[in-house]
Amino acid sequence: MPEIKVTPLGAGQDVGRSCILVSIGGKNIMLDCGMHMGYNDDRRFPDFSYITQNGRLTDFLDCVIISHFHLDHCGALPYMSEMVGYDGPIYMTHPTKAICPILLEDFRKITVDKKGETNFFTSQMIKDCMKKVIPLNLHQTVQVDDELEIKAYYAGHVLGAAMVHIKVGSESVVYTGDYNMTPDRHLGAAWIDKCRPDILISESTYATTIRDSKRCRERDFLKKVHESIERGGKVLIPVFALGRAQELCILLETFWERMNLKAPIYFSTGLTEKANHYYKLFITWTNQKIRKTFVQRNMFEFKHIKVIMPGYCVQGTIGHKILNGQRKLEMEGRATLDVKLQVEYMSFSAHADAKGIMQLIRMAEPRNMLLVHGEAVKMEFLKGKIEQEFSIDCYMPANGETTTVTTNPSVPVDISLNLLKREMALGGPLPDPKKPRTMHGTLIMKENSLKLVSSEQALKELGLNEHQLRFTCHVQLQDPHSDADTLHRIYTHLKSVLKGYTIQHLPDGTVIVESIVIKVSSSAEDSNTKVLLLSWSYQDEDLGSFLSSLLKKGLPSGIC
Ligand SMILES: [Zn+2]
Repeated sequence: MPEIKVTPLGAGQDVGRSCILVSIGGKNIMLDCGMHMGYNDDRRFPDFSYITQNGRLTDFLDCVIISHFHLDHCGALPYMSEMVGYDGPIYMTHPTKAICPILLEDFRKITVDKKGETNFFTSQMIKDCMKKVIPLNLHQTVQVDDELEIKAYYAGHVLGAAMVHIKVGSESVVYTGDYNMTPDRHLGAAWIDKCRPDILISESTYATTIRDSKRCRERDFLKKVHESIERGGKVLIPVFALGRAQELCILLETFWERMNLKAPIYFSTGLTEKANHYYKLFITWTNQKIRKTFVQRNMFEFKHIKVIMPGYCVQGTIGHKILNGQRKLEMEGRATLDVKLQVEYMSFSAHADAKGIMQLIRMAEPRNMLLVHGEAVKMEFLKGKIEQEFSIDCYMPANGETTTVTTNPSVPVDISLNLLKREMALGGPLPDPKKPRTMHGTLIMKENSLKLVSSEQALKELGLNEHQLRFTCHVQLQDPHSDADTLHRIYTHLKSVLKGYTIQHLPDGTVIVESIVIKVSSSAEDSNTKVLLLSWSYQDEDLGSFLSSLLKKGLPSGIC
């Protein structure tokens, strides 16, 4: 049976360094190539030695597909392509291709220039890596080679984020990357065809969360911000420069207008400026125009600060420590800082919640489900729910662990008109094409296509001679008569037992039932012992073995 194998090199029962290997129909695809925000050591990048211990990445992989520009999905890309070594195609959408190198460069600057780390990719490597990228359009089928095709779908989440449908023959896999099933203020909701993939690989960041309505969360957020300002306080919102920043800006902007508030909103410059540029450039990917009425000056002098964490904080990050109530922070070997602020966690993350994941399953109707990009305990819970509600298997492999799913691919076959006519003559009108029906014929492969024809036609088309295969067996019988009489008694017996069969007694001393030939001779030692020779063609295998066992029982007395 054909199989599809899925092995996470990262994001297996974890959030961070998404990197999933898929083997389908003899093709190997790497889905995402991210880094882990929570580590500074080897664990920062996926473990590519899983592949390289057996050879080069380029020889093994048919392509790499990047779902979106978040670093936990693309942060290891230049390391993989330029340092480990990969020269094959890399696919991502146009916005991802535009924004990805900016974030990679920013990441490199922080790691190398600020923290002084070595053994890291250079600016030139980022450029060289991006040269290998082939941009994808939404809903456009791209032929990677003769057999492997990929198609991108809108995933919401961040600008340019895509889900991808990977197909080889009739086998297919969908990888969601990160997605959002409810529209944002600035992006739409994820959508996919009812493509019935063999496996749907889904993120599961919020596997156990069912978020209340967005409106409530927004009202809650604005209320907290407003209260702090009324008290004369200040609000610091640490937010990823791309995506959530724009989302919250639109929210605050409209609120400020409505409430006629005068307190200034400051926005840190740098990445955000570039980000806003791309949001304008790829405006067709967004929901609504991003307004640009923010003061572009950095004036962060705080007395009384309220921090709102607006996203998911991976274990090991400062955000995660603050959220867990840590009051002292060690800053990368430098000074220890006291946390003198009030902290609130509010989810504005653009990930699908449990309800959204179930909604996507209903949309795509996969045969199997595989969860990545989530915590094991939460995955376990969602896995149970999915298996119960959809009666499909749900897998959650850890990093380096392979999930194998056997598939039942269907192969299209042309059927000759003659064979169909014969089938009609035998079985009445042609069957309902939606219902399976067994047909007999000879399968021939010609010019890369399969055809089912009658055996006579197959012989003719292939220029072959027909040979007949016959089975023979000897049956001993006690019958004190002449050979000719015994044969006649067999003929009479079979005529009474087998109704509806053509039975002939031929003058050459044989009895014939369909293709089965029966001959009689006497044993050399004892003329009362008869030896029956039965032979039949393979089509009459059932009848032949039935007759041999029938005759072994002997002939009833009283027949002549
Ligand atoms: Zn993401």
